[in-house]
Amino acid sequence: MGKKRKHKWCSPMIHEARGYSRTLTYLSRDSLDVPPRSKAAIREKRVVKAHVNGRDFTFFKGKDRDYFLIRRLFCTCKDFEFNVVLRRKKLACYHLIATEVAERESAIKELRLSADEFYDIMYEIVLNGRSNILRKLLLKRR
Ligand SMILES: [Zn+2]
Repeated sequence: MGKKRKHKWCSPMIHEARGYSRTLTYLSRDSLDVPPRSKAAIREKRVVKAHVNGRDFTFFKGKDRDYFLIRRLFCTCKDFEFNVVLRRKKLACYHLIATEVAERESAIKELRLSADEFYDIMYEIVLNGRSNILRKLLLKRR
C-alpha cells in the first residue's frame, strides 16, 4: 500500500528543483544542441551582461520582450516556466542556451549600470515583459 507513488505526488517545489537541476546539467555539458534561434541571438548580440556595483547580471534583449536570466539556472520567459520547469518537455529555453554559448565564445554585449538603472530595468521587465530603459541604454552606449 502506498508504494506506487510516483512523480504526481511530488510537491511543486521538488518538481521545480528537478527542472532546474536538469537545466544545469544540460547547460554545463561541452556539447550543446544549439537551436538556430540561439545562434541568431548570439550573432545579433542579444545577450547582455550588466555590471552593477561589481556584480554581473544577464539580460536577453528579445524582438518584442526582454528577459532576466541567471546563467544555467533560470529565465523569466514563459517557455522556461512551462516547458522546462512545469511540463519538463525541454532542458532549457533558447535564451539560456544562447547565453551559455555566448559566454563561452565571449560574444556578449556589456553594459555598466547604476543600481537605480538596474532596478528600473528589472521593474519594467517584471511588470511589462520588456524594458525600454534597457533598449535606450543599449543604443546610447554602443
Ligand atoms: Zn528563456
